[in-house]
Amino acid sequence: MNPKPCPPFDNSYARLPERFYTRQLPEPVSTPGLIRVNHALADHLGFDPDWLESETGVELIAGNFIPEAADPIAAVYAGHQFGSWNPQLGDGRVILLGEVIDGDGVRHDIQLKGSGRTAYSRGGDGRAPLGPVLREYIVSEAMAALGVPTTRALAAATTGEKVMREDQLPGAVLTRVAQSHIRIGTIQFFASRQDNEALKILVDHVIQRHYPEAAQTDNPVRTMLDGVVARQACLIAQWQLLGFIHGVMNTDNMLLSGETIDYGPCAFMDTFDAATVFSSIDQGGRYAYRNQPHIAHWNLSMLAQALLPILDDDQGKAIAAGQAAIDAFPDLYTAAYQDGMRRKLGLTGVHADDEVLIQDLLRLMQEEKTDFTLTFRRLSDLADPEKASGGGVSPVFELPETFAPWLSRWRQRLCSDAQDDRARQTGMYAVNPAYIARNHLVEETIEAAVKQQDFRPFHTLVDVLAQPYEFVDGKNRYASPPRPEQVVKQTFCGT
Ligand code: AMP
Ligand code: MG
Repeated sequence: MNPKPCPPFDNSYARLPERFYTRQLPEPVSTPGLIRVNHALADHLGFDPDWLESETGVELIAGNFIPEAADPIAAVYAGHQFGSWNPQLGDGRVILLGEVIDGDGVRHDIQLKGSGRTAYSRGGDGRAPLGPVLREYIVSEAMAALGVPTTRALAAATTGEKVMREDQLPGAVLTRVAQSHIRIGTIQFFASRQDNEALKILVDHVIQRHYPEAAQTDNPVRTMLDGVVARQACLIAQWQLLGFIHGVMNTDNMLLSGETIDYGPCAFMDTFDAATVFSSIDQGGRYAYRNQPHIAHWNLSMLAQALLPILDDDQGKAIAAGQAAIDAFPDLYTAAYQDGMRRKLGLTGVHADDEVLIQDLLRLMQEEKTDFTLTFRRLSDLADPEKASGGGVSPVFELPETFAPWLSRWRQRLCSDAQDDRARQTGMYAVNPAYIARNHLVEETIEAAVKQQDFRPFHTLVDVLAQPYEFVDGKNRYASPPRPEQVVKQTFCGT
């Protein structure tokens, strides 16, 4: 057992001026019940996982026990939601308990989501139903295991209380961890109030926390903006390469740290279709799969605009600097995406017609409606068929006959590549998962927990998704695409 079960809390955000937040304790709940503690993450952050599962630990993750030295707050922000400006949002159903510093010296926010009303709840109850809490736990941890920067799930607890939505639903609280929860919308909040003093303080805080190298440069604000643009370009490329659809890319849902946040209506694509939209509230398809890079670019231009007053004393120079930073996005994104696609196909080096090869594959996948994840996994098997991991995914998926001409072009391209088959296959397996958080499995898991109080499917799914790149014979049902009657067409924010 650790000498202390809970790491010391620090509160750097709560030391910022009072207009950045409202002090707020979580509202206690009647009967806290443990759902799960993420042991690996708890260890990493300096929590004793067994203590987190103890009575006091569960009181903490349900919001009934405040750790020593924590100074809980709800933060204020603003944002563009579906393109419309909302001058004030804020943590309406989360509380930042405080921050802990891991063994590598990295600071992490510890938040409780679903912990009761705050000054920013507007009409909401500040609570979270069990279903969305489980969805966020599953998908955020799946993303982390896939190697995507993301907020994490440290724990989840039931409250023993009902929340009122269309129906009465069981309530739950998620312990969310992020390197910080500072959003594009946080910068926008102070910019829209022309509070340049707050803007400078906030940007200094972001630089210290996330871009310390920027402090040494001639224009730290510009360097930070360049850093955010670069991290978001890589992040969105990773989403595209995994078929992940965020669903609600509002400016308040993009973090300056470059981590994915807000697992509301998100989903991984099964069948490849670039126009896929899942979110029930996204009528115009603004946040469709193929639009994600454009939306990120647009959101970043909103960030640049909000930073103009502190980018340069000379307005003309500020605009030029902001524009230059934003203009870098398309090339950074394309480079990260192309590089990732080449890895998915096992191509080292760059050939002139690689791009055509990639585009033709995607067109074929779209025409044939093949499963996005398994197409790439099957190609990885085919890189060295004799040595296919776990015997290969062919029992759950096979490429259609119509792929034959493309496959022979791909093989030809591989002949002129320096790598041997074994190394190529290893490289492909490392970027082409066998297991993703498939929507029908997520839904099935949530239903068992909500309707039958059976959390076993949830635990099993979380365990399977922790090793997404290793195909294990016998876990075929977790790799399989949905049967037609299992396809989930819409997802809900679940607020
Ligand atoms: P989201 O769509 O999850 O990004 O949330 C948008 C805004 O609505 C945020 O400011 C949330 O804090 C707020 N919100 C969402 N659900 C609730 C709720 N149940 N109670 C209070 N505020 C909420
Ligand atoms: Mg949000």
